[in-house]
Amino acid sequence: MAISPVRVAIIGGGIIGSLTAWRLKQLGMQPVIIERGRMGCESSWAGAGILCPIQPWLYPDDFSHLVNASLAMYPELQQELTSLSGISPEWLQSGLMVPFFPDDKVNHKQAALDWSQRFQWPVAELDAEQVHHHEPLLAGDTTGALVWPDVAQVRNPRLLAAVHTVLQQQQIEVIEQAEVTGLIEVADQVAGVELADGRSIHADAVLLAAGSWSGRLAEAIGISLPVQPVKGQIVLLQSEPGSLRHIVKHDSAYFVPRNDGHILVGASMEMVGFKAGNTVVEVQTMLNALTRLLPGLGAASIERQWMGFRPGTPDGLPFLGPVPGRHGLWVASGHYRNGVALAPITAHIISRWMNGEPPELDMSCFLPGRTMLASDKIGFPVAAS
Ligand SMILES: Cc1cc2nc3c(=O)[nH]c(=O)nc-3n(C[C@H](O)[C@H](O)[C@H](O)COP(=O)(O)OP(=O)(O)OC[C@H]3O[C@@H](n4cnc5c(N)ncnc54)[C@H](O)[C@@H]3O)c2cc1C
Repeated sequence: MAISPVRVAIIGGGIIGSLTAWRLKQLGMQPVIIERGRMGCESSWAGAGILCPIQPWLYPDDFSHLVNASLAMYPELQQELTSLSGISPEWLQSGLMVPFFPDDKVNHKQAALDWSQRFQWPVAELDAEQVHHHEPLLAGDTTGALVWPDVAQVRNPRLLAAVHTVLQQQQIEVIEQAEVTGLIEVADQVAGVELADGRSIHADAVLLAAGSWSGRLAEAIGISLPVQPVKGQIVLLQSEPGSLRHIVKHDSAYFVPRNDGHILVGASMEMVGFKAGNTVVEVQTMLNALTRLLPGLGAASIERQWMGFRPGTPDGLPFLGPVPGRHGLWVASGHYRNGVALAPITAHIISRWMNGEPPELDMSCFLPGRTMLASDKIGFPVAAS
């Protein structure tokens, strides 16, 4: 008699839940995604798609190992997605420039150079003249910059569209407009989820991948998982293609140029719960940073703005792995500012781990139930705005 495949109920159809579903299916398991709204319309859609943590030198080394492993998977993943789905996620090695200005409050240069050497990220140090040659739109008082030429970006909506097309092709079950409210547990074993509309979905294991909402749901099912929303607003500009050549990142804002001349200006960091919408103050702050750092973009047109809720954690690190004391319950959530960068390795590790293969990287600092040291540098921002 054939043994039926292990059925995994995945709570949340963002990039983490979706990519993990695909990997589980490739390992012969039977994933089902349960999504409260529509697939991929929350943080994973809203993000800027920069494939590099904001200041990686502030994180523990195990995080940098995780990032390196994930980014190494992107070239093959994007090719695979493009050829299977016909949709390109527009993975683009536009490079990342961090310019320096006389009025900078903090100088990250030495820390950035040390980290790049330790984790083998090629980096170039530019003086003021070279900066203007490489990025002519930057303000005239730039004193120099660091450039990481290998840093890439993706366009989140396209990445999600490609992944979701593949899920359809693979006949992976997706249940939309279905909110998970609780777990089914049979004799100490998690055996599925309960939905708000009264339905039950039975499964051999459950993966909590509900992004910013994971903390709330965890509380409802009696586990401690301090994931909270950190709101980020973005303004989309239209400029001439090629006018900005690199992703430009500064403490006050970042700017992400797409191939077609769109430029994303991001992003606020707000602890305001799930209060949606763009605000005058945050949009103005980002546009002030734009005109200060890249005055040449002052004439670009504003196309639209949006926001999303990053799944934040007090120590800035995701929760990855089995939940202690709840057999069959797993978590892949709290990716905060790095969920798109970390999606490939998350899907890889979690799917194999659920299949009985221990991770090849040290996961101790990502485990649910770990002892946490809150950090206002990489965890929740201090000031609520
Ligand atoms: C403005 C902004 C900029 C960002 N920039 C970057 C960047 O440049 N690079 C980077 O790597 N990351 C970036 N991020 C972070 C990144 O987008 C997130 O870490 C990542 O998308 C998290 O993915 P996720 O699948 O965990 O969450 P989500 O995409 O939020 O998906 C979670 C899903 O779970 C569903 N859900 C919630 N509760 C339930 C329930 N009870 N039942 C069923 N479904 C439920 C939600 O509806 C949602 O669709 C940014 C985020 C924002 C907001």
